[in-house]
Amino acid sequence: MTDPNPAVEGGPVVQLPTRYGDFAAQAWLDSAGRAEHLSLTAPGGAAVPLVRLHSECLTGDVFGSYRCDCGEQLDYALRQIQRQGGTLLYLRGHEGRGIGLMNKMRAYSLQEAGADTVEANEQLGLPVDARDYAAAAGILKSLGLDRIRLLSSNPLKQEQLSRYGITVVEVVSAGVPSRRENLRYLQTKRDRMNHALAADLHVTTPLEGPTS
Ligand SMILES: [Zn+2]
Repeated sequence: MTDPNPAVEGGPVVQLPTRYGDFAAQAWLDSAGRAEHLSLTAPGGAAVPLVRLHSECLTGDVFGSYRCDCGEQLDYALRQIQRQGGTLLYLRGHEGRGIGLMNKMRAYSLQEAGADTVEANEQLGLPVDARDYAAAAGILKSLGLDRIRLLSSNPLKQEQLSRYGITVVEVVSAGVPSRRENLRYLQTKRDRMNHALAADLHVTTPLEGPTS
């Protein structure tokens, strides 16, 4: 599980024009063939490229759910990578911090009964964060990205990448606004999962539709 050189297999590089701009896209299979990941790369002038490891979140990324901040973080990351140059890894098999869609929805149900994000997973007998970044590190190495600036507020990602031999020279804030719907989620991330978020978290975004 802590293989220092996790094997990943990259497919062909193709152009992917998007509403954010053009990316070079590549699919990746991890060594066990369990998950297919995607890398999106935009060229830029920075000496050390910006990298975002984005964990798959169907409800946030595709449907724009405000129960979490994933959709807005993905939007922000793609804009920054277009602006500065860098790579986004879209990591499959990371749904619900690695517990899967069904269990994430079960945890949401417990949260509606009063539990916070951490308590809900504990009540289900599931780890609070089951994600592994071995495949991510393998993809970064295959792309020649062993020195990066990491767009994240999650200290676990930096730790895991270091363990797999990726040097994080700077952590760049993912800076996403808090909303009434995700305030408790963000407070739990900050207070119980050591995320680098503001001490005075409060609702900064008026209740209106998504910005894009
Ligand atoms: Zn999410």
